[in-house]
Amino acid sequence: MSSISKIVQSYRPDLGPYISLYKHMHAHPELSHQEKETAATAHSRLSKLHDFTLYPNIGGHGLAAVLKNGAGPTVLLRADMDGLPVEEQTGLPYASTARMVDEADGVEKPVMHACGHDMHVTSLLAAAELLYGAKAEWSGTLVLVFQPAEEKGAGAQRMVDDGLYERVPVPDVVLGGHVMPYRSGG
Ligand SMILES: [Zn+2]
Repeated sequence: MSSISKIVQSYRPDLGPYISLYKHMHAHPELSHQEKETAATAHSRLSKLHDFTLYPNIGGHGLAAVLKNGAGPTVLLRADMDGLPVEEQTGLPYASTARMVDEADGVEKPVMHACGHDMHVTSLLAAAELLYGAKAEWSGTLVLVFQPAEEKGAGAQRMVDDGLYERVPVPDVVLGGHVMPYRSGG
């Protein structure tokens, strides 16, 4: 087994609360540029990991967090937060019934996490807890970015234009994942 697999296995947090968090996120999606509660939930979770410095409200509801852990590279992990104006018809017990007035056009719309950003936010928070717990195993600087308005292709640029890199160090590596209907690792 690789040393990374060993570290993940040793420090993996209890995933039960993250299953609940995922269902909560799925049931409470927000439209692009209006991800206020999603960002607040991420902020509240990260504030329990005491060594992170948090930078909310960048480029709208964008949230960044920095964990400095000695010498080494700076790695940025990114999750997008917005849902889509889609009516959920999955019949899931935690299906979204949310509706929101879209500030872009003043029209009330159904909202659904139809693109998986609920999973992205949940996974990044779990990764943050794992990396926080495993601090003795790595050194460098970890930057987390919770990005608004990915669906409109605008949120990342807004965060940069609003001074993201005046608050957090410029990373050596950026990783942004997306869920896909394929086998893990495929
Ligand atoms: Zn997406």
